[in-house]
Amino acid sequence: MTQMAGHYIAGAWRDDGAAPAESTDPADGSVLGRYVPGTRALAEEAAESARETFEEGTWAMSPRQRAQALYEIADRIAAAKDEIADLVVAENGKLRSEALGETMGAISEARYYAGLARAIRGTMQEIAPGSVSLFQREPAGVAGIIVPWNAPVTLLIRSLAPALAAGCTAVIKPAAQTPLVHARIMKCLAECPSLPAGVVNSVNENGTEVGEAIVASPDIHVISFTGSSLTGKKIMEGAAKTLKRVGLELGGKAPAVVFDDADLDNAVRELTHGSLNMAGQICVAAARFLVHESIAWAFEERMLAAYRKVKVGPGADPESEMGSLIDLPSQQRLLRLIEQAGDEGELLLKGKPLAKGAFLTPTLFRIEDVRSPLVQEELFGPIVSLETFGDEAEAVAKANATAYGLAASVHTSDVARAMRVSRAIRAGTVWINSHLRLFAEAETGGYGQSGLGRLHGLEGLHDFLETKHVYLEPGTV
Ligand code: NAD
Repeated sequence: MTQMAGHYIAGAWRDDGAAPAESTDPADGSVLGRYVPGTRALAEEAAESARETFEEGTWAMSPRQRAQALYEIADRIAAAKDEIADLVVAENGKLRSEALGETMGAISEARYYAGLARAIRGTMQEIAPGSVSLFQREPAGVAGIIVPWNAPVTLLIRSLAPALAAGCTAVIKPAAQTPLVHARIMKCLAECPSLPAGVVNSVNENGTEVGEAIVASPDIHVISFTGSSLTGKKIMEGAAKTLKRVGLELGGKAPAVVFDDADLDNAVRELTHGSLNMAGQICVAAARFLVHESIAWAFEERMLAAYRKVKVGPGADPESEMGSLIDLPSQQRLLRLIEQAGDEGELLLKGKPLAKGAFLTPTLFRIEDVRSPLVQEELFGPIVSLETFGDEAEAVAKANATAYGLAASVHTSDVARAMRVSRAIRAGTVWINSHLRLFAEAETGGYGQSGLGRLHGLEGLHDFLETKHVYLEPGTV
């Protein structure tokens, strides 16, 4: 599986830039291929190409062509889905089922926005007799798309599909950890006859040089960023210099609130998957179990039994139930956090590395101090806190006690309580009696430090559209 991932600018593959770097398999450290790190100059060239294509071509006024291009993208990814899923497993370390799931999610997303591309309309109002105002929905221009490594297929298409549907052109910057997966997706795009050269451009990262250049570029009008809250703040600061719009899908610390009337078997099943999917490296993962004190013991016992049973191993092994972390530095960071959890709380199950590879078994720790950084900060791995509450008001207060507000789940058999608590929790998504259900049709996004704007769904288009008021003076035309 040795290959070289280049940049893709103005419809041509490029391998100029810095000296090639290696991409490795986190499960065993083997070298999978190489990629060419980008430069500021390449990012600027890609932005110029995207701006010229936007201004000089007819892409922005061709909704049927854009729909066709998105269907072609979906078809090309579908035709290569097994190869793409294998590459995601190799480069990211997640399970084969998770890798295929994210690939299928991307296909569904591209098809959803293909349909929407033909449904974007403005409105009209007669503000006074004979005085006509048109409110046109126009593409915002060039979109700069910056994606993380944890779901390199889905998270790219989640931003790119609405950008293309809206009529934008794009400059993409993949994460340095997953350049080969990204290049394979770009190959799918390069094969689409309805996608003109220059509409989608991509430059690999080199430290933070390329990302910063995209954020600073005067040729780019809107940034769609998915990543950590810390980087999101830097991007917002950088974008202020050219006053570009930013859509930010950031970190999370999702609480799962389990009431005493919940179906415990269902809650434990949902939360095992909801917390350990992608080895806990997913922004909406259940990161805090908030459990009513009367059932805390029963919940703890069942959760520990479920966690102990999880078979951690290579993503490519069909027997594995949880894959590897993204890399060894992540494993070392999480091992230090586990020690901290032992000091600040009580370790109920201590995660351990495997003999080789970036693996870590699940950790569950009990803690009552919500001010602890272990509760306040995103840990991004298979480490979950167990906290208790006495009544509904305390459950809501604890669920809202972090700066994040990306997702949450509520487990109860009382529908009135489910609606009350979901209303009171400040998060962009609240799942009832489930955790981790994502759909192309359903908006995702954050409250507080989890971000700005929404992706997925109809609102996913908003980041990439401007509204223009055109006024016709009565009696003049
Ligand atoms: P990260 O913030 O370190 O990096 C994300 C991307 O930003 C990468 O492509 C990186 O190269 C780039 N980047 C880093 N510094 C930059 C800068 N100064 N200017 C421009 N670009 C820069 O995040 P990560 O470790 O790759 O991903 C994990 C994080 O992403 C977690 O916090 C997770 O919660 C978050 N995430 C959020 C969502 C969501 O939908 N809200 C989805 C997935 C992941």
